[in-house]
Amino acid sequence: MQQIDWANLSFGYVKTDYNVRCYWRDGAWGEIEVSSSETINIHIAATCLHYGQEAFEGQKAFRCPDGKIRIFRIEENAARLQATSRGIMMPEVPTELFVEMAKKAVALNERFVPPYESGAALYIRPLLIGTGAQVGVHPADEFMFMIFVTPVGPYFKGGFATNDYAIVRSYDRSAPLGTGCYKVGGNYAASLRANQVAHDAGYACEFYLDAKEKKYIDECGAANFFGIKDGTYVTPASTSILPSITNASMMQLAQDLGMKVERRPIPLEELSTFEEAGAVGTAAVISPIGKIVDLERGTEYVIARDGQPGPWSRKLYDTFRAIQYGTAPDRHGWVTIL
Ligand SMILES: *Cc1c(COP(=O)(O)O)cnc(C)c1O
Repeated sequence: MQQIDWANLSFGYVKTDYNVRCYWRDGAWGEIEVSSSETINIHIAATCLHYGQEAFEGQKAFRCPDGKIRIFRIEENAARLQATSRGIMMPEVPTELFVEMAKKAVALNERFVPPYESGAALYIRPLLIGTGAQVGVHPADEFMFMIFVTPVGPYFKGGFATNDYAIVRSYDRSAPLGTGCYKVGGNYAASLRANQVAHDAGYACEFYLDAKEKKYIDECGAANFFGIKDGTYVTPASTSILPSITNASMMQLAQDLGMKVERRPIPLEELSTFEEAGAVGTAAVISPIGKIVDLERGTEYVIARDGQPGPWSRKLYDTFRAIQYGTAPDRHGWVTIL
């Protein structure tokens, strides 16, 4: 195998040895199959291609200082995929099957789990697609669930730092009663243009307000939002945001650290009252926010006045990472040791 420069990997695709697959036919899941192919062969009328019957998940496995490989809260990814499946009429992948396939995909590709010191990880990508043929708009009668893995580099190459976000009012990623709460590809297609606008204007990512009134905070691109003030961790309550497993974990850790936790609508004007804020998700864990700029209106909401991540964010980040790496006690039973 060619030598991988772990510390300089990006969040891209690197070929690994195997992926695992399972097919739903005649109303039941079949046996787990191991494949070394990077391609799938599907019907030209498959519902995933035409009608967006597609969902995915994302999680990471880490090589830890004790030499073991740990996977973070993988059962929660299974539960979220089940919720997504109910939302877009796909069969649910049972938690045991999901977890078994995830462990298998990591174990079969163990040589791609980056060394601890690199800060890199093995990204786990489960995918569920409608493969049965339909021309009318109906759910498929056959589905494929697969998991592939790929090594990804450390998110913060130059250390924990802040990023600036742009509110792009001309585009929404999801509607209040739409699919924003499900991890489906369509939400990402809907976000590509706003993301481009934000990038072109020099920002790290686009920032979403609620689609109905444009009065409340929804999400930071493909990550949840939190703000901190007076020792309180505040995160939006909204029907159009994706329930982030990282955010749910942060709410627990915030409580463990003696903070108060509030989940409620956050008016846009409240942004500048936060002492700290960040985007939370599997990719970065916490990506601290410097400022948020309302592009069309020209309003700036500055959060990190010195441009530096705040103390609570750092504490939460460090605590979270220590649990993932097995260097802090796993009080809530979040990690699976391979
Ligand atoms: C995946 C995702 C997140 C982050 O969820 P995690 O479980 O923390 O990785 C947040 N928002 C959107 C839109 C997502 O797709």
